[in-house]
Amino acid sequence: MDDSWLTDTPWQVRLLPNMVGLESRSLGEINTIVIHATELPNLAKARQFAEEIHYPGSQTGNSGHFYIDLDGTVECWVTPERVAHHVKGYNRPSIGIELVHPGRYPNWLSSDHQNWDTPYPEAQIEALIDLINQLHVRLPQLHHIAGHEELDQTWVAASDDPDKKVRRKLDPGPTFPWDQIYTNTPLTPLIARD
Ligand SMILES: [Zn+2]
Repeated sequence: MDDSWLTDTPWQVRLLPNMVGLESRSLGEINTIVIHATELPNLAKARQFAEEIHYPGSQTGNSGHFYIDLDGTVECWVTPERVAHHVKGYNRPSIGIELVHPGRYPNWLSSDHQNWDTPYPEAQIEALIDLINQLHVRLPQLHHIAGHEELDQTWVAASDDPDKKVRRKLDPGPTFPWDQIYTNTPLTPLIARD
């Protein structure tokens, strides 16, 4: 493992026990950052979820690489040298950054619970901008950024009414300040936005 992700880093390192089962990759393969919201109330709950085993064969689960708490604390849970499971069909060339944010918690798929109105704290967004710029220095092919909601546009039956459909993924959601990210980082949208 390359030590530069682990020692003297601008983030705290708290690797997931199940990271060792994730596939390796070369850093040159990484070209996109995918932004997520945890849709959970705090970092501890996110950790609990990320430690669960969802793929018994490889003994791995679902998680991002980096997590940013509401106060701007940044933690690395999976190093970029591993392919984390954070977005359907786009894991190989991407890094997942998860922002602690309640999203639709705890009724994610309920048809009457699809309003996403909680803002992201300024400290959290500033930490995100800083992290993106740090990663851009370290990863030569990193050029793009996308929201999870753009890469997974699946609709599923609502949990309270199977006749209604809701979005499986909505993160980082309508309160995410995309313009602030574009203005303060060199990354461009993976998918053109209007
Ligand atoms: Zn997500």
